[in-house]
Amino acid sequence: MADELKSLLGVLERVAGGAKKPVALHEPEFGGNDWAYVKDCIDTGWVSSVGSYVDRFEKDLASLFQVKRAVAVANGTAALHVSLLLAGVKRDDEVLMPALSFIATANAVVHAGAIPHFVDSEEGSFGVDAEKLKAYFSSVAERDGGGWRNKVSKRRISALVVMHCFGHPADLDALAGFSKETGIPMVEDAAESIGSLYKGRPTGGFGMVACVSFNGNKTVTTGGGGAILTNDEKIGQHAKHLTTTAKRPHRWEFFHDETGFNYRLPNLNAALGCSQLERLPDFLRRKRDLSAKYRQAFTGMKEMSFLDQPAYAESNFWLNTVILAKRDRALRDRLLDGTNSAGFATRPLWCLMHRLPMYKDCPRSELPVAEDLEDRVINLPSSPSLGGPHA
Ligand SMILES: *Cc1c(COP(=O)(O)O)cnc(C)c1O
Repeated sequence: MADELKSLLGVLERVAGGAKKPVALHEPEFGGNDWAYVKDCIDTGWVSSVGSYVDRFEKDLASLFQVKRAVAVANGTAALHVSLLLAGVKRDDEVLMPALSFIATANAVVHAGAIPHFVDSEEGSFGVDAEKLKAYFSSVAERDGGGWRNKVSKRRISALVVMHCFGHPADLDALAGFSKETGIPMVEDAAESIGSLYKGRPTGGFGMVACVSFNGNKTVTTGGGGAILTNDEKIGQHAKHLTTTAKRPHRWEFFHDETGFNYRLPNLNAALGCSQLERLPDFLRRKRDLSAKYRQAFTGMKEMSFLDQPAYAESNFWLNTVILAKRDRALRDRLLDGTNSAGFATRPLWCLMHRLPMYKDCPRSELPVAEDLEDRVINLPSSPSLGGPHA
C-alpha cells in the first residue's frame, strides 16, 4: 500500500473510524423540533406555498445572516438564478465567476441568459483571487457607457459571482473593492457557508445579493431549499415577487405584472428549516471540533496538509479538505479509490467548469491555481456527528 494511503486511512480511522461504515461525506442530522414542526404542518394542513413557517424561516435567516431581507426558495440554484436577475444580469451578458465552483453556479448564469466568464482562485481560501481578477479585468474589459464590456467578445460584463468554497469565506473586502471600483455588482454564492464569518460578520451580507442552499448535504437542510439574501429592501421585495409568480396582491384577482417563477419553498420544508436553524449553533460547534481533530491529525505530515480557515475568517468547515504536497492526479485517484473502498466517502474537487462540454468555449483567464488544486484536493467525511464525543 502506498505510504500516502496508509497515512490518510490512519487519520480517517482515528478521527472518524468509530462511525458506522460507509461513512458519508456529509449527512443530515435530525432531532430537536424537526419532527414536531413538520407534523404541525400536516396536522394543520398548511403544507404548501403559504404558511407561518415560511415567514418565520425568512425572519430567522435574516437575523442569522444579519441582512435586511431573506426570501426562502425551492433550492440554491433557483436562489442564484434570481439573484443574478436582481443584480441586473441580462441576456447575452457575461458574468465573472470562479472556474472552481459547483456546477450550479455556472448553470444559474446560463439560466439567467448570460455566459460564464471564468477566473482563477487563490490557494488560501479557494475563493476568487481578487488581485488576479483586477489585473485580468483591466486587460480584458473596456468602458461601455456607464458599464463594461469584454474587448474581444464585445459582450457586456454585468456581474461577479464569488463563492465561499467548502465554507471558507473568500476575501470579501478585496472582492468588494473590485466591485466598488468597477461598479460591477457582487453576488455571493454562500450556498456552502452558512454560519461562516468574514472578519466577524456572516458571509452572505457583503454582496448586492447572496444565495444559500439547504440541500440534504449542506450544513442545514430543508430536504431541498434555498434562500436569497439582501440588505436592499427594494431588491428583497422584488425577490419575493419574482419567486412567487409576480402576482399583484389582491383578494380575488389574478394579475401578474412580469414573468415570475414558481420558486417558493413549501411550508413543510420551511418548518424543517426552522428547527434545523435552532440547532445550527450545535452543528457548528461539533463541526469545528471535528475540524480541530483533522487539523491536529495532519499536523507535521509531509505528504498532505489540512486546509485551514483563512486568517480573517471563522469557517463553518462544511467540508474538511486535505491538499496533497505534490501535484499528482494518479496519486489523488488512488487515495480516493482506497479510502472509498475502506468505507470512507472522500471526494475530489469538482471538475473545473471550463473542462465541461457546455462551458469549454466560455471566455476565461489563465487558471493556474484552480488547475493545480484540481489534482491535489481531497474532501473528507465532515458530518457533525463524526469525531465525537464532543466537549
Ligand atoms: C449546493 C450548491 C449550490 C446549489 O444548491 P442547490 O440547493 O443544490 O440547488 C450552488 N452553489 C454551490 C457552491 C453549492 O455548493
